[in-house]
Amino acid sequence: MTWMDRMAKRVRAKELVHFHCQRCGRCCRNLREQAMVENLDAYRIAKYLKEHGHPEIDMATVFDEYTVPVLLPGNFPIFMVKTAGQDEACIFLNGDACSIYPARLRVCRLYPFSVDTGEHGQDFIWYQCLERQFHFTGGTVRVKDWFNQNFSREDRAFVLRERDFLPQLGKRILAMEGDVLDAAIREICLLRYAFFDLDEPFLPQYDRNAKELLRRLDRLAQENGIEM
Ligand code: SF4
Ligand code: SF4
Repeated sequence: MTWMDRMAKRVRAKELVHFHCQRCGRCCRNLREQAMVENLDAYRIAKYLKEHGHPEIDMATVFDEYTVPVLLPGNFPIFMVKTAGQDEACIFLNGDACSIYPARLRVCRLYPFSVDTGEHGQDFIWYQCLERQFHFTGGTVRVKDWFNQNFSREDRAFVLRERDFLPQLGKRILAMEGDVLDAAIREICLLRYAFFDLDEPFLPQYDRNAKELLRRLDRLAQENGIEM
C-alpha cells in the first residue's frame, strides 16, 4: 500500500460516506506548510477582508501577510497558509472557528474530500481523505452533494484552467536558469499572484494574465537565445 493509498481513497460521485463535522477546528491545526493558497483563494480572501475592516488590502498583501512561500524545484514559488502558535494553527483560526469562513481556502471547503482532474472525458475525480477517523461517524454525506455544495462553478473552471496552463508554464521554466530564471520568477509572481483587481471578476483576469505571462516568458527566452 502506498503513502497516497493510506492518506486518501478514490470515491464515486454517488457514494454515501459516513461523515459529520463536529466543528472542532482540528483540521486547521498542525498545518505548517500544508495548505496551499492558490491565487483564486487569495483573491477571495482579499475581497472578504476588504469588506471586513481592511479597505486598502490587495492580493499581494494577502500573500505577504498570510502565507509563506515554498520553493519547488527550479525555484518555482507556491504559497502555503501561514501558521502560528505551538499547535501550528492556520493564521485565520480564531479559537476553533475560521475567521474568514465564507472565503476559506478551496481545500478547506472540500475537506474531508479532495479533487483532481480526470481523464477520458471525465473532468474530475474525487478522493476521501482518510486521516482523522473520528469524524467519519454520526452522519452521512453523498459525495456528489458535497461537491455541488462546496466546489463552485468558478472553482471548477479555475482547476481546469490550471490543468491546461501549468504544463505550459512548467515547460518554459524548466528551459531557464540563472538570471533569466530569476526574471521569469518575477514575472510569475506579478502575473499569477499580484496583478488582480478586486473589483473585477477573477477568471477573465486569470485568462488575460496567463496569456500575458506566456508572452513575456517567450520574449525573455527569445532575447536570451533559449530554445523551447
Ligand atoms: S472536518 Fe473534522 S477535524 Fe475539521 S472541524 Fe470538522 S470534525 Fe473537526
Ligand atoms: S482558512 Fe479557515 S478553514 Fe481553512 S485552515 Fe484556515 S482557519 Fe481553517
